[in-house]
Amino acid sequence: MSAKEELEKRLKAYVGKVQGPVEIAQDAVNEAMIRHWCEAMGDRNPAYLDPEAAKRSVHGGIVAPPVMLQAWILGGLEMADTSAGPKNEQQVLHKLLSEHGYTGVVATNTDQEYTRYLRPGDRVKAKTTIASISEEKATGLGTGYFIETRIDFTDQHDAAVGTISFRVLKFKPAQQPQAAAPAAGGAPPKPRRLRAPRAHDNGWWWEAVDRGELLIQKCSECGTLRHPPRPMCGSCQSTAWTGAPSKGRGTVYSFVVMRHPPIPGYDYPLPIAVIDLEEGTRIVSNVVGCKPEDVHIGMRVQLSIENVDEELKLPLFRPAA
Ligand SMILES: [Zn+2]
Repeated sequence: MSAKEELEKRLKAYVGKVQGPVEIAQDAVNEAMIRHWCEAMGDRNPAYLDPEAAKRSVHGGIVAPPVMLQAWILGGLEMADTSAGPKNEQQVLHKLLSEHGYTGVVATNTDQEYTRYLRPGDRVKAKTTIASISEEKATGLGTGYFIETRIDFTDQHDAAVGTISFRVLKFKPAQQPQAAAPAAGGAPPKPRRLRAPRAHDNGWWWEAVDRGELLIQKCSECGTLRHPPRPMCGSCQSTAWTGAPSKGRGTVYSFVVMRHPPIPGYDYPLPIAVIDLEEGTRIVSNVVGCKPEDVHIGMRVQLSIENVDEELKLPLFRPAA
């Protein structure tokens, strides 16, 4: 049996495994934690915050924001401490993959389902299961395995209140050109700029840049523009959108000239600007084609999609003619 077959056989044994004992929330659902969460998230829904208004609502009293579901069972800072070794089957699985060179980890997507609203006094319990592990996949980050985990949440009566499924990729980081050994007798390869990760929610935007186009995400319901790309409209919460081409005319709203620390692959001093696009949204980019000291607030600039190395195109801005 090859080393890879051996590893995959061991991985298979984790599928369907419950991560550890059922977790029980340290605190019952309570108004103080709801209020702190709403403050942090900027959510002012009176059903979460105002007892009188909540009483008059369909809920008949304060309820917790459904997306707080996992917050009730999180274990605090202690969760991040692995110095005493793996704490559950999930961490044992991650350690196994790390030992085989799959040292990288990135979260890729999550699905959440809320069965009912939680109310003050409810006590949340969570059972976490390793739901599936993919075949080895080649990705832009490197080859690796997608691990899907499912958390089933119940209340004090063992009735379902919701589920969260999430996937992470445990991967062998791809060899970066800057880490490559110099060719015999040749100079080491020139370091390249950092690559933005491309995923479900932003890949389309980068593909447009590759074609030489700057698209701005536009809500199909209310028309609000947004950038950088994200799944939901901040104004009306619609997930329907289109990509509207930008003419690329803009004005420098604010900027910095970065000098230190120098990151390999970038030329310094490096002007980084927040640009007000004529269409009505902003984008962060570099201003090129002038001296860094000539960049100023209110400067008119024009989009120029350019190669910054042999592969990567970026939407940069030049002083407008
Ligand atoms: Zn909208």
